[in-house]
Amino acid sequence: MRVLCMDCGSEAAWGAMGRCAVCGGILQPDYDDENIQQLRYVQPGRGIDRYRALMPVEFTPLPYLGEGDTPLIRSKRIGPSLGLENLYFKNEGLNPSGAFKDRAGAAVAALALEAGAAGVVSASSGNASSAIAAYCAAARLKCVILMEPGNPPAKLRQTLATGAQVLLVEGIFAHGPEALATFLNEVALRADYYLGFVWAPVNPYILEGIKTIAYEVAGQLGGAPDVVLTPVGGGDMFAAQWRGYNELKRAGVIDKLPRMIGVQSVNAPPLYEAVHQQLRTVATLPYAKSKISGINVPFTGDHALAAVHHSGGTAVTVADEAAYAMQKRIATEEGIWIEPAGAAPITALADLLQRGLIQPHEKILCVMSGAGFKDANLAAEDAGRIGQQPTIPFDVDAVSKMLTEP
Ligand SMILES: [Zn+2]
Repeated sequence: MRVLCMDCGSEAAWGAMGRCAVCGGILQPDYDDENIQQLRYVQPGRGIDRYRALMPVEFTPLPYLGEGDTPLIRSKRIGPSLGLENLYFKNEGLNPSGAFKDRAGAAVAALALEAGAAGVVSASSGNASSAIAAYCAAARLKCVILMEPGNPPAKLRQTLATGAQVLLVEGIFAHGPEALATFLNEVALRADYYLGFVWAPVNPYILEGIKTIAYEVAGQLGGAPDVVLTPVGGGDMFAAQWRGYNELKRAGVIDKLPRMIGVQSVNAPPLYEAVHQQLRTVATLPYAKSKISGINVPFTGDHALAAVHHSGGTAVTVADEAAYAMQKRIATEEGIWIEPAGAAPITALADLLQRGLIQPHEKILCVMSGAGFKDANLAAEDAGRIGQQPTIPFDVDAVSKMLTEP
């Protein structure tokens, strides 16, 4: 195992955090061919530890809580309604804490144990915090989560439930990515905790857990999809899948790579702006005002921009309201209740089709980032309305009269 700069190729010391000391590029672990070749065979074991030959840990097993092996579901109604013959959903909401971040949580816990740390410190808008808290509990590590005030209450409750210490820090994400990285590094150093912030420019190793989404999809689909659509915040999930498909190709498991399409909110579109202004690096926006938690960030890593360029993909935006409406459609037409961020890729399909950026016959994968309970404002409003209705007596006629017409 080595860790190399994505931009200049310099090798950094194994375990080095932050960016490349030579050019400031994002670091990424790199594996020997012998390890890569293991992707050709089904590995025994459970969860993402099955892929430990391609994980940045040497001797520590990744703690298992049921992460990974999430279902790939062919769209029953939304795909056909758009004329898409092969639309697939990867439902990451079925991970143990309800989001893809469990793959990162398992990696963080193993990395912290291997570093001999007593605990993990992280910052999160929500999903990462619940995942890291759970895996720290499983690995008997202390866990400190720094959070912006005003997150969806479900994510805060879940983080507290598994015993993490939560500190609400005013404007933690408001000072830009560099200031955040320095701040987190300093906090981790003083506490002698492992810095488990899920973003490759700060910690280059954690997204190795997330790339297992690509391994699983290739197995479930019998090859790579033609197009992968992913909600993009910091960009780790997006870049991680691209890395996973590249490793599969290197191993000879797949023969072609998918086009990667990143989907952001029109109210927080750093990657979209970089792609469409043809910037060489992603600029930090002076704002992020999306109502969709998880993708409401003003900065995306350059690893996501590289994935767009190298895959021949693109980045698009959707309106918050459209994503909320699609969240409801996916629930009522497909039976899958996911968080609004997870609905963003499906929201983008109609426009992509119209612009000829995806084709009706292509195998299209939309990654659903998390479960519906994670950000349940809409459902809470519906439940509130039901709660206000008069109750019905214990009487079959009275109930029958109230049934909606079939
Ligand atoms: Zn470099």
